[in-house]
Amino acid sequence: MTPIRRQTVFAGLDQPQTWPPTPRAPRPERLDRELDALPGVGVTLKRKLGKLGLETIRDVLEHAPRRYESAADELPIAALQRAEDEVVITGEVLNVTKRPLRGRRTMVTARISDGTATISAAWFNQPWLADQLKPGTHVRLRGKQGRYGFDVRSYDVGDAARATADFAPVYPAAEEIAAKTVRRVVDDALPNVVHYFDALPAELRERERMPLKRDALAALHQPQSEDEAERARERLAFEELLRLLIGIAQRAAAREQSLAPSLDEPGDLIARYRTSLPFALTPYQEQAIRELDEDLKRTVPMQRLLQGDVGSGKTVVALYALLRAVEHGRQGALMAPTETLAEQHFLTIEGICFELGVSCALLTSASKKRERELALQADVVVGTHALIQEGVELRDLAVAVVDEQHRFGVEQRRALTQGRAPHVLHMTATPIPRTLALTVYGDLAVSEIAKPPASRKPIVTRWITEDRASEAYTRLTGLLREGRQAYVVCPLVELSETTLARAAEAEAERLQHGELREFRVGCLHGRLKPDQRRAVMARFNARELDVLVATTVIEVGVDVPNATVMIVQEADRFGLAQLHQLRGRVGRGSEQSYCLLVSRAREELTETASKRLESLVATTDGFELAEVDLDLRGGGQLFGTRQHGLSDLHFAHIRRDRQLLERARVAAREIGGLIDSEALDLDA
Ligand code: ADP
Ligand code: MG
Repeated sequence: MTPIRRQTVFAGLDQPQTWPPTPRAPRPERLDRELDALPGVGVTLKRKLGKLGLETIRDVLEHAPRRYESAADELPIAALQRAEDEVVITGEVLNVTKRPLRGRRTMVTARISDGTATISAAWFNQPWLADQLKPGTHVRLRGKQGRYGFDVRSYDVGDAARATADFAPVYPAAEEIAAKTVRRVVDDALPNVVHYFDALPAELRERERMPLKRDALAALHQPQSEDEAERARERLAFEELLRLLIGIAQRAAAREQSLAPSLDEPGDLIARYRTSLPFALTPYQEQAIRELDEDLKRTVPMQRLLQGDVGSGKTVVALYALLRAVEHGRQGALMAPTETLAEQHFLTIEGICFELGVSCALLTSASKKRERELALQADVVVGTHALIQEGVELRDLAVAVVDEQHRFGVEQRRALTQGRAPHVLHMTATPIPRTLALTVYGDLAVSEIAKPPASRKPIVTRWITEDRASEAYTRLTGLLREGRQAYVVCPLVELSETTLARAAEAEAERLQHGELREFRVGCLHGRLKPDQRRAVMARFNARELDVLVATTVIEVGVDVPNATVMIVQEADRFGLAQLHQLRGRVGRGSEQSYCLLVSRAREELTETASKRLESLVATTDGFELAEVDLDLRGGGQLFGTRQHGLSDLHFAHIRRDRQLLERARVAAREIGGLIDSEALDLDA
């Protein structure tokens, strides 16, 4: 094994590569140009690409193909029969028809012949295709046999169909933008790979037989073989894992050097808190509390993750931790990712604090200067991450609870530089499979609330297709008449919050005058002002509203035990993690709860969308769903990546890349010993 020299590490991290020589000097800033710098990308395409998260040339170059299409999958139509898997066919269009389906949808069908046989191919909701698919047009289709004939998942038309290599990347596409358009943009951006510096030290790269990053990116997008594509992906995944592991090691090392207040045994306030609860804590909650009490005694700042499914009772444990600080005359702060969530937490916690004689304040962006100053003095402060920003001076923070959020990076380091650090409890309801927790949260101790309070009945989940949506509303109105409350979640139509808000309001209006005319319908979305939002939540809490029509803003934090029914419209558009989170809004009381997932017709769903819905019906266990999600997604994304702050993992597949992870671990240990934490700012 060739040792890695310190010098090279530094050189490799941020200096241009000197060998092999590059024809042009890399200019990394050119990677940050916006996409309209490319020929053929105008305003409209730029906006559409933006929706895929592609804003700069770098984004495009690092956009991993979902899969590759290979020649092996191509079949003559005559051999198609009832092939189980997706296949590719090529042929000519004989004729084409367009017809409307229920609910403003359309279907385009074309007869395709390849000389061996003919087949009818179907496209849904792409009416404009009828003009493109003129008789005689050459097409290349990927899809599988469905109820309406060959159900097309991706396609190339005309010259593109002939030109498509036998082995070509397929990119994740969005509604409005075809995969092949993305392919064209990537091809246009590709020459820019020369502007990458290589972060891997040369010796390490040699030892691991890893190509240069720029070569890996080129091979990722234009591989000659499956093998080459996989080697390229590995190279990129390796670097990602290495950065992840070094980051973990640095945070752990920094923590050892900082000082937190030691909080000894729980006392009177905690005793009163326990008796004030209307229920006994579950064994899992007790166990978590024991574990965090151990941490709080030390002067090394606690970094503990509290994992537990939605509704498992994490908030009770979080408040316990906050009160442990208050008991010592110090402060506790609860940080939530959004203002809605912060407000919701505040509503839950404020009452209990009041009873205990503990002052509790909500700090939002709307708080005025005077309010803000007062809030910062409270025993328990609830707010968003604005709480720990520069210029916000908490009186004496000893325990911080961070809900559903990526870990603190920059902020925490600021606290560290002041020579002291609070104890931190991270809370997450997005379970990661236990096998992975150690890698992802390498520097955190983990407490787990594995089961919800026993009084809870499992939520009954049903999958209903749109043509039978009325059955869902019949179920809903029945339960509303019994005095229950409900949520209706609107489709995830657009990424713009404003469009979503408008759609939700229109839907609330429609339901109020239609299916739900005998009930009181409210609407909740991300475009409401904080006090409007608060007013809507307060009315729902007080049962002045029966139904809340909402966008995914209700995904987390909303806690109304009498709300026992949820309808999710066009549920097939949501991710598995998101549906699981949404479902967690019901099933919070002792009444039987229901989650009704309404989807488009089965023929219109992708295989993974169907699997998502099936598994939600089959289980309410978040860990099990996390495993399913991991399998369905393949390409390196984790269950609820958003929450984990792991969205940087584009290429690594934590499960499949076990071996690669081991290699990265070895390299991280070597590099970790060589550099000091300032040298490599991984959060940047
Ligand atoms: P989470 O934050 O994990 O989603 P919460 O802490 O909001 O869950 O708890 C969900 C509901 O369960 C709340 O209404 C809470 O009061 C209740 N709860 C919490 N712990 C218990 C318990 N030990 N027994 C009965 N109900 C509980
Ligand atoms: Mg909660």
